[in-house]
Amino acid sequence: MKHRIVVLGAGYAGAFAAGNMARRLSPADTEITVVNAVPDFVERMRLHQLAVGQDLAFPKLTDVFAGTGVHLRLARVTGIDPGRRSVAVTGEEGDGELGYDTLLHALGSSVAHHDVPGVAEHAYDVAGRPSALRLRERLVGLGEGGTVLVVGEGLTGIETATEFAESRPDLSVALAARGELGAWLPPKARRHLRHAFDRLGVTVHEHTRVTAVEPTRVLTAAGTTVPADVTVWSAGFAVHPLAAASGLEVAETGQIVVDRTMRSVSHPDVYAAGDCAYAIGDNGRPLPMSCASAGFTNMQATAAIIARLTGGGIPTTGLKYYGNHISLGRRDAIFQMVDGDVRSKSWYLGGRTAARLKAGVLKGAVFGIAHPTFGMPKRRRRLAATDDRSGTRVAAA
Ligand SMILES: Cc1cc2nc3c(=O)[nH]c(=O)nc-3n(C[C@H](O)[C@H](O)[C@H](O)COP(=O)(O)OP(=O)(O)OC[C@H]3O[C@@H](n4cnc5c(N)ncnc54)[C@H](O)[C@@H]3O)c2cc1C
Repeated sequence: MKHRIVVLGAGYAGAFAAGNMARRLSPADTEITVVNAVPDFVERMRLHQLAVGQDLAFPKLTDVFAGTGVHLRLARVTGIDPGRRSVAVTGEEGDGELGYDTLLHALGSSVAHHDVPGVAEHAYDVAGRPSALRLRERLVGLGEGGTVLVVGEGLTGIETATEFAESRPDLSVALAARGELGAWLPPKARRHLRHAFDRLGVTVHEHTRVTAVEPTRVLTAAGTTVPADVTVWSAGFAVHPLAAASGLEVAETGQIVVDRTMRSVSHPDVYAAGDCAYAIGDNGRPLPMSCASAGFTNMQATAAIIARLTGGGIPTTGLKYYGNHISLGRRDAIFQMVDGDVRSKSWYLGGRTAARLKAGVLKGAVFGIAHPTFGMPKRRRRLAATDDRSGTRVAAA
């Protein structure tokens, strides 16, 4: 029997990992299945662009995995039973169960509501494609002078507010920040950010904690209200509760606690990568949810899975966080490097060059997903050992 590797989620982490393993392990003794809810590779980093009406075509996963032997199962994961090594799914093929020998959990994240009243009922978000498309429809129906309030001064909030203001100058766009806008940036980059907000006409409500969302306004902790025909909730990401419900050891964030090789600390057949992994970076801090972290963690997980199956030593992939690359519409951006303690360095890159670089990063990510072993020697390795009782190809001890 072949060794069954099941990858949950075909986002930045899962799609790259599955394609990488399929190109490096022999199909004679491994079988790789990817379970994903939708047939496309959804570029989450562009969802604010999608929401504001830009034409984007996401690659089909069948094209991404063409010729690799990866089996794509279009279905929603509804449960994981690590004891029985099985995953429950539901989709067009009906309900089903998938058995695995090795599982890579890469289901990403979705919007975090933080239990704020009215968010679920009245707010929109750009954290997933269905919600971004819902917002897109709403914005089409919003006439000149309509008010859009983006809640959250993190990277996604900043990118969303500036993108909306640039693409829809007819709207009145505002951002609610709990603290000061760009407080974590050094003075030069912060000035750049503020200048971009002024140039694009985005109003900033600083020191404003939103405590409730209503259909046409939000309420704040100070007892004031801010008008909003459309509220876009951008106050962070949350991990799917599936991992915690399955009995895998998770952190307070709900992310799966992994060791340095991205292996679950509670279940050695399970690995995690991307937003759903609680991975400690080389600086001793948890890696932030980001595309870069999805890249490093999936490469480390893949390297570990392949090495354990084929019997080689486990290569160490750097788990770094280099900095933030924030789009400010299509023609401006800020690239801010950070040091090992995640403190911003004084140097930053801004303007069109930074925007072009970000466009290159986005394209590069998609290229990498379709060509995960680009430039590497092409050799599909056989597995090291066979379980005598079941005849299944297994990992080396
Ligand atoms: C608007 C926006 C802008 C961003 N900009 C940046 C940026 O500039 N730089 C940066 O580093 N990061 C950015 N991020 C964050 C980045 O997109 C995430 O950190 C990254 O997508 C995480 O990758 P992942 O593979 O863990 O998860 P995802 O990319 O979310 O992939 C998860 C996959 O799992 C699938 N899935 C989820 N649940 C189920 C289920 N139950 N059953 C089956 N399939 C399921 C999804 O369909 C998806 O394909 C941005 C995010 C957003 C929303």
